[in-house]
Amino acid sequence: MDVCTIVKPLAEKFVKTDKFKALEKKLFSEKHCYEIAVGVCEYNGNLMLGKKISVFSGGTVAPKCERGRLIGVIHTHPSTPYFSPTDLKTLLNSDLKFMCLIYKRNDKYHLKCVENVKDVDKKEDLLYEVKYFEDEVLEEYFRSRTEENYEKVLDYINYLEKELNVCNIQIK
Ligand SMILES: [Zn+2]
Repeated sequence: MDVCTIVKPLAEKFVKTDKFKALEKKLFSEKHCYEIAVGVCEYNGNLMLGKKISVFSGGTVAPKCERGRLIGVIHTHPSTPYFSPTDLKTLLNSDLKFMCLIYKRNDKYHLKCVENVKDVDKKEDLLYEVKYFEDEVLEEYFRSRTEENYEKVLDYINYLEKELNVCNIQIK
């Protein structure tokens, strides 16, 4: 089973929480840059959502578990359906098993997840590539927002997502 299938029921629970519903409009609008995050906790062999839901703006936040071990994080993105370089660096530098995003497309919620990498060399290569993406590809686009540079950003994101075995499914 891939991570998306495993996390799906928890993500569906997350979008139904009071906090999520109360912030829903602000979370998925270009005007705001709020994000919320919840931890996925492993307790007695079961996966459950942490109780704490953190609200933040920029960066990556991993709320703690009240019970059990934190093994993953689910967070929202306002408009970009991609992991940020900070998201990926946080995952690769942690002992979390996965990181997931919830984003909205055509009025439906989607879940995108990436599994952490166990192999040390592979991890190092990926961290280097994420850094290259951030320092070179993204920087170039911020210096000059041409269509060509935008294409390069998207190409690199697609490349990284393939390398990282990212999965993507629609949720309720
Ligand atoms: Zn993020």
